[in-house]
Amino acid sequence: MNVDGRYDIVIVGAGISGATLAERYATQLGKRVLVLEKRGHVGGNCHDYINDAGIRVAKYGPHYFRTNDEGVWRYVQSFSSWEPFVPKALSHVNGVDVPIPVNIHTVNALFGTNIETEEQMKAWLEAETDHIIEPKNSEEAALRRIGKRLYELMFKNYTTKQWDMSPCDLDPSVMDRIPVRLNHDDRYFTDKYQMYPTEGYSKIFERMLSNPLIEVRTNSSWESLKDAVGKYEKLFFTGTIDSYFDDNLGKLEYRSLRFEEQTLDQEWYQKSVQVNYPSLDVPFTRIVEYKHQTRQSNPRTTIVREYPTWDGEPYYPVASQKNKEIYERYQKKAEALEGQGIYFVGRLANYKYFNMDQAFRNSLDLFYRLEPGTKNEYAN
Ligand SMILES: Cc1cc2nc3c(=O)[nH]c(=O)nc-3n(C[C@H](O)[C@H](O)[C@H](O)COP(=O)(O)OP(=O)(O)OC[C@H]3O[C@@H](n4cnc5c(N)ncnc54)[C@H](O)[C@@H]3O)c2cc1C
Repeated sequence: MNVDGRYDIVIVGAGISGATLAERYATQLGKRVLVLEKRGHVGGNCHDYINDAGIRVAKYGPHYFRTNDEGVWRYVQSFSSWEPFVPKALSHVNGVDVPIPVNIHTVNALFGTNIETEEQMKAWLEAETDHIIEPKNSEEAALRRIGKRLYELMFKNYTTKQWDMSPCDLDPSVMDRIPVRLNHDDRYFTDKYQMYPTEGYSKIFERMLSNPLIEVRTNSSWESLKDAVGKYEKLFFTGTIDSYFDDNLGKLEYRSLRFEEQTLDQEWYQKSVQVNYPSLDVPFTRIVEYKHQTRQSNPRTTIVREYPTWDGEPYYPVASQKNKEIYERYQKKAEALEGQGIYFVGRLANYKYFNMDQAFRNSLDLFYRLEPGTKNEYAN
């Protein structure tokens, strides 16, 4: 395959990070851009499709777009119309579905209390939680934040399933920000904009990459084509940082998910888009029912069970000291390549979980940092 010499910009990966840079370089600077994507589709982990029952489902798990970033919100509106979607999630505890994040409803439903005010909720939490000043692991972080009873019912086993590790062996950062509401607010998130693209996410990427100056090659990995790619001004790499360097400083660990899709001959399966299953009695962590998000009218429904696994696509960086040290070694090598016009962008290259809005923001910021002569309409 000849990909030599015809491109100014080469981008590895057609997810949010790569598509944003491709779109900016082509539309703002008229650059010829080559995007190499190893999967058979664009959109990275945001990719969605219509299944045989006519229901739109996300191939790599549900994506709830939410942001407080005005610039990102303006940017994403260039590629789609959006409608409000404020996700609510439940947790299936001892046969009852209770709202998460923990709020007054959750506590009353689980413990038969009759809490009504913020002051009462504060006092209840104060009596439940342990006074640990500096948590050494995730269990201690949870005990400090929500106390033993909520931790054991809702978080301990869920976290063990999710990470295949006891919370005692996980960094405190995994649990030290478990959201707890002192009021009745049962929204999953509190961001200003919580939206869903009216035609789904995949359409956004088709539009972002539709400029004739952009050539996208799917089913094309960097590894298989790097020797054929000729000179370029800049290379943006959005794959796993260790794979770029042939894993020669150690392999970074990722947790993955296996998705099991099932279509049922009934209109609805559950009350909410997402129900978590914290019990060890079932091997999956959550069930997602997409129609709540897509608002499609269909006499059938599709649900997806999520099973955490070590095999498969790299999704969640594992917060351990060992991985942190390996990543720092790669990061040094990566920074040294900036002088040659090679940049590492996105959640895989930074070994860091980014929400969608952060991924858009990082790529926009990088573009405007590297190309200061261009007018930045998306700064905050
Ligand atoms: C299960 C799951 C659920 C999520 N839910 C939410 C949510 O509800 N809300 C939210 O805001 N965010 C969510 N996210 C985060 C969101 O998916 C990311 O912010 C976003 O995908 C980051 O985009 P990216 O381009 O950096 O990475 P990716 O989407 O991973 O894109 C990287 C692309 O590079 C390609 N690639 C990698 N290596 C190579 C190579 N060597 N050669 C060629 N191509 C390569 C990959 O195939 C991939 O398509 C979720 C993430 C996961 C994993």
